[in-house]
Amino acid sequence: MADNPVPSLGGRTPIQVADTPCMDALAKKGEVGWVRTVPVEVPPGSDTAILSIFGADPKVCYTGRSPLEAAGSGISLAPGDVSYRCNMVTYEDVEKPFLEKKIVSHNAGSIEGEESIAIINALFSHPEFAPLAEQAGLQIYPSPSFRHIGVQKGASIQGLVAPPPHDHLGEVIGPLMPTGCENAAVLRKLMEKAHEILDHHPLNEARRKMGKRPANGIWFWAEGTAVGLDSFVEKYQKKGVVISAVPLCHGIARLAGLDIKLVEGATGELDTNYQGKVDAAVEALLNGCDFAAVHIEAPDECTHNGDTEGKIEAIRRLDHLVVCPLTEAMERAGLPYRMLILSDHKTLTSNRGHDGDPVPFLLYQSGVDTGAGLPYDEVSGEQGRLIEDGTRLMSILFQMDGE
Ligand SMILES: [Zn+2]
Repeated sequence: MADNPVPSLGGRTPIQVADTPCMDALAKKGEVGWVRTVPVEVPPGSDTAILSIFGADPKVCYTGRSPLEAAGSGISLAPGDVSYRCNMVTYEDVEKPFLEKKIVSHNAGSIEGEESIAIINALFSHPEFAPLAEQAGLQIYPSPSFRHIGVQKGASIQGLVAPPPHDHLGEVIGPLMPTGCENAAVLRKLMEKAHEILDHHPLNEARRKMGKRPANGIWFWAEGTAVGLDSFVEKYQKKGVVISAVPLCHGIARLAGLDIKLVEGATGELDTNYQGKVDAAVEALLNGCDFAAVHIEAPDECTHNGDTEGKIEAIRRLDHLVVCPLTEAMERAGLPYRMLILSDHKTLTSNRGHDGDPVPFLLYQSGVDTGAGLPYDEVSGEQGRLIEDGTRLMSILFQMDGE
């Protein structure tokens, strides 16, 4: 959600442009500040940022993104196992050698779950691909989105460089292929073979005919080994649920000992089931949970897709379809509450990639009017206090931090 000023928006940020009366009303009575969720020298991403937000220091516990997602999907990694994210991606439709093609979508045009599973299964059962995967010790765990997980047995990722595809959209892929260790060559071979098999696969020709982007490649990244997190419940003495569409949040929740509530129709895209997420949060809060975390992915996805209008609409929906009804439900229930609103990290319209600069947060306590009077956006955030260590956020929310 957070961004830098965008020239085509008259130098304003998407949060400033979006219609957000509910967040602004809370901000005016609460506190707006900024917080560094991604420690300096740590790669900016939802993985590192959300670990911080949940009070786990990514400098200490981060081994890579995919082990967190694997945990979210119920896959447990054995010692010696390496996991990767295996995205369905789109390479440009041109007659060129593989390595000279550009990557045009990190999510194969936001491919739908079942279609994505069909394509990844077709690939991994293909007579030319299956033996290569087996030789590599690689097993695929399909996920109902573009975010499949690969687990490789007895492989080393020491020195491996495998860039995130969403940070390189529109770039030629040759220099982006995995490098840095022997195993990288194995991954490169699998990626090239996958393109060869998938480019003109009937499922992709059907997608092209429907005007959709073909899922004509796979992309390994986010490598990591097994990970453990401290118990959130023990640390904060708070019981809570996490409501999200994405395996990463499920994994962090599960590893921290928090409950997960799955919501039908939660897609991680603009069309997600906002109402279902709010209902799940309210139900948890009215039935003994101390807190509920609701994660909305759409503003980030829209930014990666270069869809600025979509990003603004996603922020508007967050306000109208999440913050408004949540606030109303809490007021109706007559329970005192605190609400913390923030984005995990900036995703920049300028380059469609992540950024690790501090993000604005909004903290509101029911029944309290601080008289701050500022709307919720990056400019207000920078006028407020800076929380340099994002792992303090939960303590601040729960008033355990001398607050
Ligand atoms: Zn992102």
